[in-house]
This record gives sequence, C-alpha cells and structure tokens, in this order.
Amino acid sequence: MLNTEKLYEGKAKILYTTNNPEVLLTCYKDDATAFNAQKRGQIQGKGEINCTVSAALFKWLESLGIPTHYIDCPTPNQMRVKAVKIIPIEVVVRNIAAGSLCRQTGLPEGKVLPSPLVEYYLKNDDLGDPLLTLDRLFLLDIISQAQLVAIKEMALKINRHLQDFFASCQITLVDFKLEFGLDSQQQILLADEISPDTCRLWDRTETDPQARVMDKDRFRKDLGEVESAYQKVQARVLAQIEQWQKSG
Ligand code: UDP
Repeated sequence: MLNTEKLYEGKAKILYTTNNPEVLLTCYKDDATAFNAQKRGQIQGKGEINCTVSAALFKWLESLGIPTHYIDCPTPNQMRVKAVKIIPIEVVVRNIAAGSLCRQTGLPEGKVLPSPLVEYYLKNDDLGDPLLTLDRLFLLDIISQAQLVAIKEMALKINRHLQDFFASCQITLVDFKLEFGLDSQQQILLADEISPDTCRLWDRTETDPQARVMDKDRFRKDLGEVESAYQKVQARVLAQIEQWQKSG
C-alpha cells in the first residue's frame, strides 16, 4: 500500500495512514500487556488470531445493522478500517461478575448479573483508565448525552448478538470492552477490536474455573496454554461463521 506512515503505536496494534485519508491500516501485534502494561509478553500468533476473529465478528455485526469501522483484511494480521476519531471511553459490558467488578465490589467471581451492566472507563493509560461516573463523564465533556444514549444502546445490542453468537460456539461471554469512534459525518461506528484480548470467554465444555478460561486472563494470571486457548476461540468462531454462511 502506498504512502503508509505510522500514525500511532499502541500496546497491541500499530495504526498506519494510507493513500486514502478516509482509510487507515491497523496491524495487530503478538505483544501482550496486562495491568496497565506493568506485565509484558508475547502470545505467539495473537496478532493474526485477534485480527481474523475481530474481522469475522465486525462483518457479522454489520450484517445485523451495527455500523463498524471494518473494511477488509489485506493480510491475516492487517485490517483496513474507516478513519474515525476515537471517543476516549472504554465501554465495558458485563454479564457475569469477574475481574475489576469483583475486586472493587466484593461480588463473587462467576455470579450471573440480573441484567447486563454497562460501565464507562476513561481511556487514559497515565491515569490507569479510571471508572467514570456519569457526572464525571459529562464534566470531562468527551461525549454528549445523546451520543452516550446511542452508545449504550449499541453496546447492549452488540452484547445480545455476541452472547448468542458465542453460546453457539459453546462459549460464555462473561464481559468485554468496546470502543467507538466518530466518522467524518459524525456517525458513531464500533471501532478497535473484539477478540480474546478484550473479552472474557469461558469454555462451556469445561467446568474447572481455570480450564474454562479462553481469553487474556490466561496471560494475566499465568494459567499457561495461552496460544492454544486463543486458537480454540478462533477455530470455533470461524467454524460458526462458516456454518451460518452455508445455511444462508
Ligand atoms: N478490558 C480491555 N482493555 C482494558 C480493560 C479491560 O479489553 O484496558 C476488557 C477485559 O479484557 C475484560 C473487560 O474489559 O474482558 C472488563 O475488564 P475489567 O474491568 O474486569 O478489568 P481487569 O480485571 O482486566 O483489570
């Protein structure tokens, strides 16, 4: 691709410009970080897996009426995306208590929540991505009330679709993080990625609380077999997409 210039390097991806100002190229890396980059490592093949899983899920969500930044994948670890201005909020949707929700509230891990919980974290590594109250969100003036309503509605709709999708892969969607961006027409698009790096995924064919983990918690908690868990997620997601494509 002509005229590529590195725009930004994040913890898991590098963003390049392209010869079209409306299009950016994202390269997914094997680098893994956790605990606000205090823990660093590599997960072999992660870049390709996260890129192909995200691409498959973005394409599928688009077909269900969710606008995303996805265009196509020129190679297995590269994704062409629509250029958006990222809204600096990490939107977390939770179906089951885990991670920081348990640490901060004392809820037991694995408790099924009565309804999905939507939370907003400030996307700012220097501040440690703090949990925001609604008043703080509006105080910071990073989003309008109308945009927040739209984002929450999109996040809950995505959750319903993804829960069904992963269930058909024999996977429980515990929680996940989304990012949204605004395109040149100020339309809100789902951006970033949806992958084992950004979701908690539990294998429904396993009952053991460690054996069932198929996501970045294997890396965070040194559970081992990280690569094979990511590969398993990829294989099940792609097989499910293929099955649906065949059945029309
Ligand atoms: N998450 C993410 N990026 C972040 C923080 C969280 O993708 O910077 C995802 C994480 O993988 C999990 C969900 O968001 O699926 C909720 O994470 P949590 O707040 O429980 O944080 P953690 O326990 O990972 O610190």
